Amino acid sequence: KMFGKEVEYIQFTEEEKEMDLDLKTRCIHGILDAKDQDVYRAISYPLYLSSTFAHKPTTPDSDFSHDGVSTGFTYSRQSNPTRAQLEDVITSLEGAAGTVAVSSGMAAISLVFELFSPGDHIICTEDLYGGTERLFTEISIKNGLKVDLVDTTDIANIRQAIRPETKALYIETPGNPMMEVTDLAACSALAKEYGLLLIVDNTFLSPYLQNPISFGADLVIHSGTKFLCGHNDVVAGFVCAATQERSDRLHFLVTTIGNALSPFDSWLLLRGIKTLSVRMERQQENAEKIARWLKEQPKIREVFYAGLPEHPGYAVNQAQSRGAGSMISFHTDTEQTAKTILSKLKLIAFAESLGGTETLITYPLFQTHTEVPPETRERLGITETLLRLSVGLEDVDDLIADLSQALQS
Ligand code: PLP
Repeated sequence: KMFGKEVEYIQFTEEEKEMDLDLKTRCIHGILDAKDQDVYRAISYPLYLSSTFAHKPTTPDSDFSHDGVSTGFTYSRQSNPTRAQLEDVITSLEGAAGTVAVSSGMAAISLVFELFSPGDHIICTEDLYGGTERLFTEISIKNGLKVDLVDTTDIANIRQAIRPETKALYIETPGNPMMEVTDLAACSALAKEYGLLLIVDNTFLSPYLQNPISFGADLVIHSGTKFLCGHNDVVAGFVCAATQERSDRLHFLVTTIGNALSPFDSWLLLRGIKTLSVRMERQQENAEKIARWLKEQPKIREVFYAGLPEHPGYAVNQAQSRGAGSMISFHTDTEQTAKTILSKLKLIAFAESLGGTETLITYPLFQTHTEVPPETRERLGITETLLRLSVGLEDVDDLIADLSQALQS
């Protein structure tokens, strides 16, 4: 009874729960789950800001254990209805067994590294977000973990780097910032052969375009700050696990470490994800046009976009994803041209981050990849002439006009 009225929790039938819903629909409805449907049938999932939840009414004879008194939610560091709803939506989109929502993409990566023990060795993609590399060199080393960065576009390099103490393969594909593509099925086969955990940072394509678990990944990481949020107004992260056991372990770690995503940020993420499909499709369409246009510009030396047939990873990316997303990197002819572009752009903001509605341009050498050792940067091509674009939702002709005026000297 609520306010003197009988209220009924909404229960989905087994038939409804088993409905085979398309990803676009699941962005909006998540998985049909009777766990916690709002009694008022609110269409926008409620924001439960409460940090704590009263236990069920008791009598002196009640079972006073946690499970005996809890309504399912006790304290928001451990779990919260709004965050749980968000975790269910991500679980559904990634085809996972469970997900944890945490306070940033880096919190998600750090959490995964809590699964390892001193002495463990991890092989990682060389074309990697600079903050992840900083975590390895500044924190993981201190914790006794050894990380080797290799060119994972060639599976032979990974095989060669495997040692008896190797425990995991950590992949970014397409990589940040060079858009190098790694073959997920081949990595999965190798991981199975050697009993390694396969971890994939799926930030650049989002679950709308790529689902690494379907290729055998054990864990999928997202910076939720990017495409999943989509509006440049939340910092968030996710880890999705392929098995219930590992998902339970991740939930235990979040409860213990205390880095869970806040209810309000969870609510904003739920709201952002409703439009993930239309955003990804339009941003990708814009990116394809801009990548082709950039290729024709005399002051642009090379364009890196996994959606161009001449990209070395094009075929692999096509086989394992539903698109190349909206991230493009390119080399200008000179350092001066790169700096002039950044100074002259009017509509496109010179800013870090990616995946939102606004188009952003970044100078990886000075912003996102400062921590990468100079020899690795040189080998990968992260130089004074490299710029990275995150293409947004603006009119593509307006974006091209802005780039065009910035290229005029
Ligand atoms: N993974 C990738 C591929 C990223 O590009 C980033 C940030 O740019 C992160 C992880 C870290 O995410 P956050 O900034 O949400 O901590």
